[in-house]
Amino acid sequence: MDMQVAIDGPAAAGKSTVAKIIADRLQYVYIDTGAMYRALTLKAAEEGIEFDDEEKLAKLLEASTIELDQNHGQQRVYLNHQDVTEKIREPWVSENVSMVAQHAKVRQMMVEQQQMLARSQNVVMDGRDIGTSVLPNADVKIFLKASVKERAERRYKEQIAKGIPSSIETLEEEIATRDRRDTERKTSPLVKAEDAVELDTTSLSINEVVEKILSLIEGAKIR
Ligand code: C5P
Repeated sequence: MDMQVAIDGPAAAGKSTVAKIIADRLQYVYIDTGAMYRALTLKAAEEGIEFDDEEKLAKLLEASTIELDQNHGQQRVYLNHQDVTEKIREPWVSENVSMVAQHAKVRQMMVEQQQMLARSQNVVMDGRDIGTSVLPNADVKIFLKASVKERAERRYKEQIAKGIPSSIETLEEEIATRDRRDTERKTSPLVKAEDAVELDTTSLSINEVVEKILSLIEGAKIR
């Protein structure tokens, strides 16, 4: 039986860090659904399409290919066969992606693609609507959260380590705005699935979160 692990939560709660480690340990496929919305945001900007133009964005997505490639524990993201892994992490993409992700037509197509990716293999998928909408029957559902302050501090350290100049205040603002847009949108807003296990990571180490999720997966295997 294939295992489906869904990890949802707000921006910068540590979802991708934890999901990558778990996928690596268990040899599952890691699927970063946020990268797909980011790739569409990048393409829309390149084509001069407004982020509130649902019809044009949906057409653009239909005409684009977004691929996630796993290699030696590293994920690369390809947009129309071009490597956009670094570009989709630029701050302007983070600031605008939640506007692109709010449209029902865009989400419907993304969800279909994500469901296809999860078919017939063991997966760890992270995002905002995985437990509620993409994989409602996932074997393990996790909802990660942490205070805005803690999340901004973590992102700040990450950015500085990568040599990207940042300010904690700007990051706090960006994260809070993104949370608000993701939580308040009409189509599949960010919300904990009823049957998800909530983990507040504010005072937990990455390792503690990983171990907790691994034990939930073990429990699900013998259920
Ligand atoms: O996970 P990441 O921070 O890269 O996601 C970027 C944005 O993509 C989120 O803020 C959200 O607007 C959107 N997203 C979404 N549904 C998902 C994954 C991401 O709406 N499943």
